[in-house]
Amino acid sequence: MSLKSDIAAEAQRLGFSLFGVIEPVTPPHFDVYEDWLERERHGEMDYLATERARERRRDPGLILPGCQSILVLGWPHTAPDLSTTGDEYRTKGTRGRTASYAWGEDYHDLIPPRLEGLVGFIERLVGYPVPNRWYTDTGPILERDLAQLAGLGWIGKNTCLINPRHGSFILLAELFLGIRIEPDAPFQADHCGTCTRCIEACPTDCIQANRTLDASRCISYLTIELKGAIPRELRGDIGSWVFGCDICQQVCPWNQRFAPREDLSPGEQSTREPELIFELALSPRDFNQRFKGTPFKRTKRRGYLRNVAVALGNQGAVSAVIPLINALNADPEPLVRGHAAWALGRIGSEPARQALEQARLDENDAYVVEEITNAMGERGRN
Ligand code: SF4
Ligand code: SF4
Repeated sequence: MSLKSDIAAEAQRLGFSLFGVIEPVTPPHFDVYEDWLERERHGEMDYLATERARERRRDPGLILPGCQSILVLGWPHTAPDLSTTGDEYRTKGTRGRTASYAWGEDYHDLIPPRLEGLVGFIERLVGYPVPNRWYTDTGPILERDLAQLAGLGWIGKNTCLINPRHGSFILLAELFLGIRIEPDAPFQADHCGTCTRCIEACPTDCIQANRTLDASRCISYLTIELKGAIPRELRGDIGSWVFGCDICQQVCPWNQRFAPREDLSPGEQSTREPELIFELALSPRDFNQRFKGTPFKRTKRRGYLRNVAVALGNQGAVSAVIPLINALNADPEPLVRGHAAWALGRIGSEPARQALEQARLDENDAYVVEEITNAMGERGRN
């Protein structure tokens, strides 16, 4: 077997179902990315727009001096229930929804040891140390562009990389190497055709015509990357999502046909559809214990409970009123108290009104007072 086919077989054995090789070249959609930044579609993710980050995305070879090849690897993860997409969850009491990539072990912990193992395998094959560097969603790389160049699939209108045999529920990783490996041909076809399902299903209308997202409106950004208050005008569109959003992938026919249905890394029911009334009561210690080693840590407790409060407000269940009042009165984080106030205003009821009135007298934080005042107006409009 050739060096390349030996490496591909080992990558497959390690769990990377998709494998391709490119030379370090400027990604074909780099100009689209620059335009996206110019239009400030990246929200508060300023780390995407630094000069250094732009330079490296333009020239991936800068990431590893002497880089000759980049292996692009794909790791399919558990797909969600593709028969449900949105509204039906609003009738599921006070359970939340979470993005499927987060259900298992954190991929930032799961994938690097396998990349390290692959480097060791390559070094044993060639018989000398090989300069290398790897990333999985963490580096200054246009990774979907590189994956398309490596022949792994096309970038769909939902902006995800779609593989014709595995769909788009795939995590990507890149391994930069100081040795030459024969590159693959790019994936040329576009199998979206006239389909527009993802664009129609997106609750916040953030999918743009040029296959980019207005990230500042995307539920994944709002519930994970955004650190402060969620803009009020977007809270209602978030529905029951408390960590990420899968809708534009769930509705995609390429996932409905081919995405893996079996549980590759089954999470607990409490992670897939968390009971939000319990989640709202998580202490800092509870949160750390519950989400240790999972992607949920990224939001920190305050971001997660902010999202939980918004989802409870959207669901409108009267059973959430007392837990939300408790959060409004006693949560240590102003961000959580403020979003609890919003949720109470949205749900309404006499106990909610009284709690908001009292909290407006007792609250010392100016941001929370502003949320309470707005929530009381919101209640008046219900
Ligand atoms: Fe829209 Fe959700 Fe997809 Fe973001 S993740 S583009 S909010 S459907
Ligand atoms: Fe393409 Fe349709 Fe899938 Fe959107 S839902 S990515 S348009 S195939």
